[in-house]
Amino acid sequence: MAYDYCIIGGGIVGLATARAILEKRPGASLVLLEKEKTLAKHQTGHNSGVIHSGIYYSPGSLKARLCRDGAHETKAFCREHDIYYHDCGKLIVATDSVEKDRMENLYQRSAENGVAVEKVGENELRDMEPYVSGIAALRVPGTAIVDYREVCNALAKNIISLGGEIKLEAEVLAIRECSSYVEVDAESDMISTRRLVVCPGLQADRLARLAGLNPDFRIVPFRGEYYRLSPRWTGKINHLIYPVPDPALPFLGIHLTNMVDGSTTVGPNAMLGMAREGYRKFSLNARDMSEYLLFSGFWKMMRKNFSSGVSEFCNSMAKSHYLKQCRKYCPDLSYDDLKPIEAGIRAQAVSRDGSLIHDFLFLDTERSVFVCNAPSPAATSALPIGKAIARRLFEREGESCKEKVAV
Ligand SMILES: Cc1cc2nc3c(=O)[nH]c(=O)nc-3n(C[C@H](O)[C@H](O)[C@H](O)COP(=O)(O)OP(=O)(O)OC[C@H]3O[C@@H](n4cnc5c(N)ncnc54)[C@H](O)[C@@H]3O)c2cc1C
Repeated sequence: MAYDYCIIGGGIVGLATARAILEKRPGASLVLLEKEKTLAKHQTGHNSGVIHSGIYYSPGSLKARLCRDGAHETKAFCREHDIYYHDCGKLIVATDSVEKDRMENLYQRSAENGVAVEKVGENELRDMEPYVSGIAALRVPGTAIVDYREVCNALAKNIISLGGEIKLEAEVLAIRECSSYVEVDAESDMISTRRLVVCPGLQADRLARLAGLNPDFRIVPFRGEYYRLSPRWTGKINHLIYPVPDPALPFLGIHLTNMVDGSTTVGPNAMLGMAREGYRKFSLNARDMSEYLLFSGFWKMMRKNFSSGVSEFCNSMAKSHYLKQCRKYCPDLSYDDLKPIEAGIRAQAVSRDGSLIHDFLFLDTERSVFVCNAPSPAATSALPIGKAIARRLFEREGESCKEKVAV
């Protein structure tokens, strides 16, 4: 089968990319291949459901820009498609003077990133959130919550109405790029496409290798474990409650999140995973583990982050340790309030020198774009990420204009 465009991956990034391409190229033939029986089965369907506003990220980084734009576009998309989202706002709570100083830096950064925030004093914080304790806070009114699976379902409908095809249970097993087309082996289908976009989340390094590339990173899975708060907490927390991040490890920090179903969760931690797609507590996949254990960058990362790794391990193994962290800013929480729910697994790209790659990362070949790293807030940022990828493809098409559909 021959197509103009083929997208691998039915998470939010793949779906947003397919939609962006079809909106700009009406009438083009496009197929999206997803290996699972349903869309959004991995990171997109196991996240906190937050529409971030983009204050944390380095000014000028892709993350900062695409997150800010993504928050606006996601909300507009939800309004257009009748998807419920709630502008609950977020409070970043400082519990001591060190955190208060860091909060000031964050305040400056939010201004540089063009995101509106308000300073909140101790008394005001108590009025806003009687069950939260802290000495000061930043309020981010633009932060919202949504169910990203619903966003994906609407994107899928959009893609089909624009003439695209979505094939489920179509695992891509081989990719061969030639000068005028790319051949994709998806189980029973052999597909030939003019342009390929690969958005495989937790399998990013493997798909790149499948195409004959030699990426300088590996995906290391990090489990994000959550608890749901007992029903006695329903309606007691008004905002999303976040700790002030440690600038050295900005992605760490267990937060209280209201979900669109009315429940409140706490999490996620960041525990080294033993399987990329195994959601049970002790899921283990020998191939997944051996791939990172044999990667020198993994050991360098472990050495650099030893103490936070131990702390996250304790968080995972002992509920009392996890509870202690939450009680720093929500002291009334009790052991019995925390009911475990299914974890999510982050695809974290780690480079050969042991650094965690924080920004979005793309790799281009003549006819393909590989999304190598799309960590949080990629769900928030997916719509502009999709447009950015479509632009990359179209610019390339401009260079080799007047191509004919291959095969
Ligand atoms: C615990 C957790 C909490 C998070 N919280 C938030 C949040 O609140 N807000 C936010 O903005 N972001 C959040 N994120 C980040 C966000 O969820 C991800 O960045 C985003 O979902 C990535 O989307 P994706 O499409 O790249 O990957 P995925 O959703 O993982 O999708 C990749 C898809 O590719 C498919 N695939 C892989 N290999 C193949 C193959 N060979 N053939 C065919 N298909 C294949 C997979 O089956 C999968 O469906 C969170 C992530 C986690 C894990």
